[in-house]
Amino acid sequence: MNDLNCGKMLLTPSDPPPVEWVNRESTAPVLLLCEHAGKAIPAKLDGLGLPQGAVDLHIGWDIGAERLARSLAAKLSAPLILQRYSRLVIDCNRPPGTPGSVPEISDHVVIPGNSNLSPAARREREKLIFDPLNEAIAEGFAQNPRRAAFSVHSFTRQMCRGDRREWDAGFLCRRDLETARVFPDALKRARPDLNLAINEPYQIEEDGDWFIPHHAEPRGIRHCLIEVCNDQLHSEKAVAEWAGLLARAIDEVLRT
Ligand SMILES: [Zn+2]
Repeated sequence: MNDLNCGKMLLTPSDPPPVEWVNRESTAPVLLLCEHAGKAIPAKLDGLGLPQGAVDLHIGWDIGAERLARSLAAKLSAPLILQRYSRLVIDCNRPPGTPGSVPEISDHVVIPGNSNLSPAARREREKLIFDPLNEAIAEGFAQNPRRAAFSVHSFTRQMCRGDRREWDAGFLCRRDLETARVFPDALKRARPDLNLAINEPYQIEEDGDWFIPHHAEPRGIRHCLIEVCNDQLHSEKAVAEWAGLLARAIDEVLRT
């Protein structure tokens, strides 16, 4: 059993804290979240045994999502919660204990450091990385009334052996279709050339998602998960343009 780190503290002072706040004191009515912002791996996990550079690819994090989320938070003066560890260490948008929480394979890449992980080692990742983010989200809702919350992600144009995804962005939800639909309508007015979709390239599922089923829906607030194709976020200028488009759509959500 892969029990290398069990019994020792997984995170050391040289590892980053799992959660970073931006505009923590903001009383804005909207809360922003970026669960896949970071690609850090605790030093004790020895790079999860991955080949050089693998964690820098889309399997390790949401490329460009942190810059987009920061830019959006600045435009809205809204609180933003960023998660610093690679989703290959533990995916903070998946329910703990599910296969996707600590993936053994991601887009055909085997993650040696996750194979046959002991329950104790899995629980330690939950306790030190997943739980603090979950507590931060609860704090973000508790400290001020929020009318809306959005989680910012990026996807890759083409998965290994997968079909090319034609969408430039997708807006994901289960129950709050009214909010998701504001985005393509608002964005298309400024950028009719964009290919936008609802519930693509992913769909929200009870056992495959955390933020929407466990935080947004139970609170009855306006919400969706924003997925922008990472080739749209290739430069500061492109990120700023997307942040502007999304900020205007969020303003529209808050006005309606
Ligand atoms: Zn993501």
